Amino acid sequence: MNTAFSRDVPVPTAIALRPGSLRLTWPDGESELPAADLRAACRCGGCRARALRGEPPPATGAATLTGAAPVGQYAVQLLFSDGHDRGIYPWALLRDLASPSRRGAPASDDRPVADACARPSER
Ligand SMILES: [Zn+2]
Repeated sequence: MNTAFSRDVPVPTAIALRPGSLRLTWPDGESELPAADLRAACRCGGCRARALRGEPPPATGAATLTGAAPVGQYAVQLLFSDGHDRGIYPWALLRDLASPSRRGAPASDDRPVADACARPSER
């Protein structure tokens, strides 16, 4: 049931909301995610359906952050200037977005990053 969050995903120690970006303080560093990137990475039902149809998210370049609300212990809900408020952003997703190697990657994010769990050395 809870496998998506059983990985050892660090939890931000602080979150600072700015109109143009979300600044996260992790136990091992800081990252700043542009609002447009967060808007484009929204995984709510409507945005996922749009992505499956191959449609780009609308006007993400102009989107700014207008609010944030905690979701349990695992995620944050973000509110955008275009009125979109359905996006839930788990820490694991925010970590992925903050990782330089993931920047600009296509939306093949249904596959979890399992590097930390896969240990083929046990034989
Ligand atoms: Zn959405």
